[in-house]
Amino acid sequence: MHTPSEFTAGLLRDNWLRVTAQVAQSCQAAGREPQSVRIVAASKYVEAELAWQLAEAGCQLFGENRPQALWDKVGYFAERSRLSSGDKRPAVEWHLIGHLQRNKIQRSLPMLTLLHSLDSYRLAQAVSQAALAMERRMPVLLELNVTADATKTGMSPAQVEELLANIDGLPGLEVRGLMAMSSLEADALRARQEFEQVRAWRDQWQSALGTKIQLDELSMGMSGDFDAAIAAGSTLVRIGSSLWQGL
Ligand SMILES: *Cc1c(COP(=O)(O)O)cnc(C)c1O
Repeated sequence: MHTPSEFTAGLLRDNWLRVTAQVAQSCQAAGREPQSVRIVAASKYVEAELAWQLAEAGCQLFGENRPQALWDKVGYFAERSRLSSGDKRPAVEWHLIGHLQRNKIQRSLPMLTLLHSLDSYRLAQAVSQAALAMERRMPVLLELNVTADATKTGMSPAQVEELLANIDGLPGLEVRGLMAMSSLEADALRARQEFEQVRAWRDQWQSALGTKIQLDELSMGMSGDFDAAIAAGSTLVRIGSSLWQGL
């Protein structure tokens, strides 16, 4: 991997333009507005300065997998931002897309505008409690596992239903939608079917909930399957490899 330089800045600008164009093309093919899908740059592969260069190229939304790496990159961005002149200072949001351990909630929540990976009732209770103590409601997605992969994280549909049935007891949460991954072995067709399944669960739960909760966001799709995810209704594509390609 190259160290950050003018060369990597140029490469990341090219990658950003290519990926945004591909996402726009998938939207067009699906008959959707390009603004209806946001790109979350999965930053787990790179050091903070390379992520910063992607932000300078125009990326405004980053997703980190591990809380410790989130803290490090958010700290780096704050320092980098302080040192750069006003008009060249990219404003970015951070999401967490990997598992959040309960002892890392306190420190992570203030840095996040969305937690994609709410994967258990126990975590939901702890996040709700911590958010209330901070006098805020934490926007979250419920991570749904519709695949048979033993390695995949997330809740079963039954677990999500149980959580939604008890949502009044979780006043610190603002549930915004669902997050899902396709199974490891999935080809494009299989991925599309799995994403359609996630959307079908969302539609079913949304009609049961009425206007009480808006499950508007679907976080689905990565470098290899975002086209299928967008066709199935994704609003947040989490893209890593394609954005860092060539480094
Ligand atoms: C790494 C990662 C991504 C991005 O995957 P790519 O295939 O590199 O685009 C998306 N979501 C999660 C949860 C990840 O860990």
